[in-house]
Amino acid sequence: MGVFVRSSPTVQGSGMTSERTRVRMVERLRAQGIRDETVLAALAGVPRHLFVDEALSSRAYEDSALPIGFGQTISAPYMVARMVELICAGTLPKKILEVGTGCGYQAVVLARLIPEVYSVERIGALLEKTRARLWSLRIQNLRLKHTDGFQGLPEAAPFDAIIVAAAAPRIPPALVEQLAPGGRLIVPVGTHAQHLILVEKREGEVRETILDPVHFVPLLTNLS
Ligand code: SAH
Repeated sequence: MGVFVRSSPTVQGSGMTSERTRVRMVERLRAQGIRDETVLAALAGVPRHLFVDEALSSRAYEDSALPIGFGQTISAPYMVARMVELICAGTLPKKILEVGTGCGYQAVVLARLIPEVYSVERIGALLEKTRARLWSLRIQNLRLKHTDGFQGLPEAAPFDAIIVAAAAPRIPPALVEQLAPGGRLIVPVGTHAQHLILVEKREGEVRETILDPVHFVPLLTNLS
């Protein structure tokens, strides 16, 4: 829906960056327990190797995080699949905020599933590189902003869902505030030991559920 990643000569190719490689990645994700076929189809449609430097493109479909410069990483496919599956469980959100754009991979996966996607990043130079990359993919339903995601994005709130791609020392209160009624927030929390936490807002009540142990780069609050 909304976004359409066109096949271009660089995308088709053969070998480690081909569509077949993506299909194998999805088979692995299914074997690892990802069940939502809509989410798996979204991952199958995004050429992950275009989100890392060319020197790393042959490793883009491995199940690992990879460096993207600026001391940051692209999240491993399983982690992206798991978080997106959690956020899309039940009713599909109409409007989502992602905190931590990085190279834009997860934002593009989200944009294939959700009509309105906002993503914020604290490192200006990284965001500019990502903007250039996304421009060539012609994605219409994704808005990016250079800002501190710990504060959310008040001008676009409320959101049906919020997904945080870096580990926060505690659940950011602004993000809970900016959740619409019935909304869901997925955020890795912790410094040394981190866990994914699902926050659900229902009839004015906020429920927190502790999920998987994870390992993310830290959510930092100063812009650069
Ligand atoms: N979504 C990415 C993962 C990026 S890693 C993917 O698809 O692979 C996490 C990103 O969060 C980094 O780029 C980091 O710079 C960013 N980040 C850290 N703290 C932040 C903050 N307070 N606000 C916005 N972005 C933040």
